[in-house]
Amino acid sequence: MPFGNTHNRLKMEYTAEQEFPDLRQHNNHMAKALTPRLYQSLRERQTASGFTLDDVIQTGVDNPGHPFIMTVGCVAGDEETYEVFKDLLDPVIQDRHGGYGPEDTHKTDLDPENLQGPSAVFQGGDDLDPDYVLSSRVRTGRSVRGFCLPPHCSRGERRAVENLAVQSLDLLDGDLKGTYYALKDLTEEEQQQLIDDHFLFDKPVSPLLLASGMARDWPDGRGIWHNDNKTFLVWVNEEDHLRVISMQKGGNMKEVFTRFCTGLTQIESLFKDQGHGFMWNQHLGYILTCPSNLGTGLRAGVHVRLPLLSQRDEFSLVLDRLRLQRRGTGGVDTAAVGGVFDVSNADRLGFSEVQLVQMVVDGVRLLVDMEKRLEAGDDIQDLMPEQK
Ligand code: ADP
Ligand code: MG
Repeated sequence: MPFGNTHNRLKMEYTAEQEFPDLRQHNNHMAKALTPRLYQSLRERQTASGFTLDDVIQTGVDNPGHPFIMTVGCVAGDEETYEVFKDLLDPVIQDRHGGYGPEDTHKTDLDPENLQGPSAVFQGGDDLDPDYVLSSRVRTGRSVRGFCLPPHCSRGERRAVENLAVQSLDLLDGDLKGTYYALKDLTEEEQQQLIDDHFLFDKPVSPLLLASGMARDWPDGRGIWHNDNKTFLVWVNEEDHLRVISMQKGGNMKEVFTRFCTGLTQIESLFKDQGHGFMWNQHLGYILTCPSNLGTGLRAGVHVRLPLLSQRDEFSLVLDRLRLQRRGTGGVDTAAVGGVFDVSNADRLGFSEVQLVQMVVDGVRLLVDMEKRLEAGDDIQDLMPEQK
């Protein structure tokens, strides 16, 4: 009998039809995939830790859509979720990740030397124009094997993940030497300053986060670790067990990616030394809370100034063709201000880390070239890219 955090046993006294959520106004991947029949066939299942179908879909039921990005509408509560509920999650993954099929395998490449360029075809990632590219950032998530994921973990599990993180990160040295700040020990002002500087995750006000159960017990077990000059950061127990971030001002994405790869590889081996690998398999790559982040979990993005191009009808089409997405600069639920956008790779799965960063570097360079053309009052038609 299913029993989860948000749902009760008595619901099984009702039929699947009586329990089926009203999804008529919904525009997310879960709502597209979930039929009454599928609901009926999955509603009795649960993972070993007790994660049920209703726990998987609740965030997508409560959040019908999103202004910029087609949301996913479901989450995983543990590593097993992707297996037990694969009849729903496979189509969601396929839909979200450009046709990635249930038998496909994923490749990992964390060697920054494999970035191409500069050449006639590829551009290097170390010289995006800083007059337009205000900052560059690469992040990913990692889940620690043996613990439930944030929508479902208990207080004890969450604190255990935090302890493991602090012990591991403490051992980083050189440029990566840093300090951990538990959220509950930061003053309101310190916290707000870190958020305003784009270093720290926002407080959990987003309905997407709240409805998934990720914000339970806030701020218990959450925190931020960063190196002394705040170019390498690790968020603990936000949407994923770990979010690993490399960032700096300006347009040197290659440097950002290089630091990202070095630090991440070290963290992975420090966790392994403590007996905890990261959740990973050949098919899904790195396993994360949101199905949109499976694979690399990587979002390489820039804050880029595009006041003219963003006014043009072609803007969305250009981004689609370059396989890029945009959001506001204050985080995923914000709108752009003053023509400055967060532009990042749209894909996570089926492409390696290096391939995704390459798409961002090449794509952003083109966007900046287009913006300069428009500034000069010239036409951009000949710069329109092919579909990548
Ligand atoms: P994610 O969940 O992918 O890390 P969010 O959109 O939730 O990203 O944003 C988290 C925080 O990171 C926000 O404060 C946002 O402003 C900041 N951020 C994201 N990309 C950049 C970037 N290229 N430069 C500076 N800050 C960034
Ligand atoms: Mg986020």
